[in-house]
Amino acid sequence: MDVEQFRKAGYQAVDRICEYYYTLQNRSVIPKVEPGYLKNHIPPCAPEAGEDFQLIADDYQNLILPGLTHWQHPSFFAYFPSACTFEGMIGDLYSSSACNPGFNWSSSPACTELEVTMMDWAARLLGLSPEFLNSSTIGGGVIQTSASDSALAVVVAARSRYQRNHPEAKLEDLVIYTSTQTHSLGAKAGLVLGLQVRAIDVKLEDEFSLRGDTLKAALEEDAKMGKRPFILIATVGTTSSGAIDNLPEIQEVAREHPNLWVHIDAAWAGVALSCPENRGKLYLQEMNGFADSFCTNFHKWGLVNFDCSALWIRDRSNLVDALEVTPVFLRSKKDDSGMAIDYRNWHLGLGRRFRSLKLWFVLRSFGAEGFRKHIRRAIELNDNFAGLISESKILSLVTPPSFALSVFRLVPAGVQGVLSLAALNELNRSLFGRLSARQDIMLTQTNLNGISCIRFAVGAARTEELHVRNAYDIVAEEAEGVLQAWRE
Ligand code: PLP
Repeated sequence: MDVEQFRKAGYQAVDRICEYYYTLQNRSVIPKVEPGYLKNHIPPCAPEAGEDFQLIADDYQNLILPGLTHWQHPSFFAYFPSACTFEGMIGDLYSSSACNPGFNWSSSPACTELEVTMMDWAARLLGLSPEFLNSSTIGGGVIQTSASDSALAVVVAARSRYQRNHPEAKLEDLVIYTSTQTHSLGAKAGLVLGLQVRAIDVKLEDEFSLRGDTLKAALEEDAKMGKRPFILIATVGTTSSGAIDNLPEIQEVAREHPNLWVHIDAAWAGVALSCPENRGKLYLQEMNGFADSFCTNFHKWGLVNFDCSALWIRDRSNLVDALEVTPVFLRSKKDDSGMAIDYRNWHLGLGRRFRSLKLWFVLRSFGAEGFRKHIRRAIELNDNFAGLISESKILSLVTPPSFALSVFRLVPAGVQGVLSLAALNELNRSLFGRLSARQDIMLTQTNLNGISCIRFAVGAARTEELHVRNAYDIVAEEAEGVLQAWRE
């Protein structure tokens, strides 16, 4: 493809993408395909001779689009949102066109310099303490692919700091602390690094928040057994129910354990810190006061197209010392001068995408005001949904609504205490089965300490009040259907 052919194909792609967004609402959220649907349409090997690009572009329309789950659909309430904006898309397009894996300053100065500044913009937007800013020259922020990558990098840094302070520690005694509600990123870090993971229990009556006493008891128990917990991955906004670990209590405990690194995983809820009214509930002050690292994904609820996971660290030397490997071919006078951040030492890979570009486009286009408006709108929509559930005689919230997430279940009036938990769970699994058999709406299920429940997460840019109301009506109708079948 030459430049003019690219121009033509590019204009066509943009036209088709616009058409896709114009018709999104009329599509089903979930594709009508079965596993293996694509296999029969795509040959097992790449073609020997290059093909006409128009055929390829048409195959995207005919084969790929019908197999997409439409995360940007206004009736997508599953998982957490993957916010997407045209501004972010254009940022990705430019990034792709420059195609420069900016691993250090010399490899593409703009990549490093824009990321350094964007991470400071984002930190200020969320109200992070100046110690986390790149301009502090001690702490700093970096964009990673995912919250799981962020956690893995941080566990490596924490392990290295712990081993520096305790050279006698054996690797097999080191333990990563999580709660039973921490995202699987904690378990995965343990798997990758060959380290033990202890998931500390959290309770329904604490709304699944990790409490200081429970943490303290675990630390004391492990100390007696010669174990060495070296990092706690605390969560602000858990995946299942949006629970917020009790950072004030954790801070008290951490004061007695200065070698325990505290990482805050706020992959989903962290962007809500942009609104000052949320900061108390999200424990910003405590987080600023003692957390060693903090992560939030702008690619979830934060309007930036996947991928854009923002990680800040209080003392960058811990990360860099743990990950620095510098072969001769990467040395240059400017990089060695220490005048610029060498981001290759802040993550696991060497090459890195120019992700700050889309963050820049989004933050400039929306402004802090527009960003906050988006967050507040989702919270308001979720409050409306939670209000409808609260008024229902057959549905009930399992935990209080958390920002833009509600967790509920089917509990017909009068049966609580009469029906066993197992029987209620069966009803709820059947409700989820009915909801997931539909293609016009998408929600996900979870299990909270043995209670089967359904999650409703708002945040797709095009979701409006009517879609939320429609979602509630569908849930209520399917719930009635489950009850009717049960009574028969
Ligand atoms: N942490 C929390 C609280 C999450 O909800 C999720 C995903 O939903 C993750 C981490 C994982 O994010 P990522 O896919 O960026 O690793």
